[in-house]
Amino acid sequence: MKIPIKMRAALYKAPGQPLELAETEIPTPGEGEILIKVAATGVCHSDLHILDGEIVPPPEGFILGHEVSGWVVDFGPRCENPHGLSPGDPVVISWIIPCGKCYWCVRGQENYCPYAAARMPGLVGLNGGHAEYMSVPETAVFPIPKEVDVHTAAVISCAYGTAYRALKEAAVGPGTSLVVIGVGGVGLAAVELASALGARPIIAVDVRKHVLEKAAELGATHLINATNGDPLSKIRDILPQGADVVYETKPNPDLKLAVEIVRRGGTIVVTGLGTSTIEIPANHIVMNGIRIIGSLGYKPRTDIPELLTLAASGKIKPQRLISHKYAPNEINEAYKNLRIGLHHRAIIIWNTK
Ligand SMILES: [Zn+2]
Ligand SMILES: [Zn+2]
Repeated sequence: MKIPIKMRAALYKAPGQPLELAETEIPTPGEGEILIKVAATGVCHSDLHILDGEIVPPPEGFILGHEVSGWVVDFGPRCENPHGLSPGDPVVISWIIPCGKCYWCVRGQENYCPYAAARMPGLVGLNGGHAEYMSVPETAVFPIPKEVDVHTAAVISCAYGTAYRALKEAAVGPGTSLVVIGVGGVGLAAVELASALGARPIIAVDVRKHVLEKAAELGATHLINATNGDPLSKIRDILPQGADVVYETKPNPDLKLAVEIVRRGGTIVVTGLGTSTIEIPANHIVMNGIRIIGSLGYKPRTDIPELLTLAASGKIKPQRLISHKYAPNEINEAYKNLRIGLHHRAIIIWNTK
């Protein structure tokens, strides 16, 4: 594969400003890094928190894009290449890159590894994939099975990964009754994965008709449009004793509905980021033995290969989640459309092959 010198990339400017599509140098892979030719990047709600300046802004010129797929181009010095990758192989890039050695990693909680927290491609410390090329630590790189389309696979590394880990943390399995509050990209992936895991019923709650219709296609057994009447009474009609698990995916979660509809001894899992504060009556939690779990990202070393296997076997079909594909010069439009809730999941196509 011939490597050019320059690439197009969407550069971060400042809080509240659009990204700037510009020409910049293609990175040289450092020690233990792999240079990736980017196929696609997801347009994720987490990016809006950065673009809006809700969290510490990255430096000017930073490259966002943490949901990435592409092809191996070149290896930096001292790569161990544990997956036996060759140039041209299709890969998914994890935005969680655990060290494998720290207190959290050795306890199986690699998604909370402090090393990973300081180096998340496209989010913190390392440039992401909103570019034609990116260089990442090889421990972030996972091979895509031949049955899975490389562009589609991008959504495995955030939407599906986040949803899969949340469902696992809440022990969702055959016969688990599940309510998913908010069926954007992560919520829709959760519905599809829960269906594949055998959860029943799966009740999807949102205020948007088009995402609820998509949730039905992906395996939701009941749809509740929260703009029409009281969602609480509708859920109680379906599950009089409450839900085994409530998964609230919304950004700026409040858990108000979740605590009302989880059953005694049930579990609430939450993955949405934001600036909200959650207020919950203490007695209600104690008297009902409710477990509330926050879940960040996923455990890449097990979750990414498992998700790719589910996709290769057809148990999940990530292509059904992708509603919009944008060219690099449409990236700001993509975020505008994300903000108004237009997408199921959208990707930017950086290279076609
Ligand atoms: Zn994301
Ligand atoms: Zn670690």
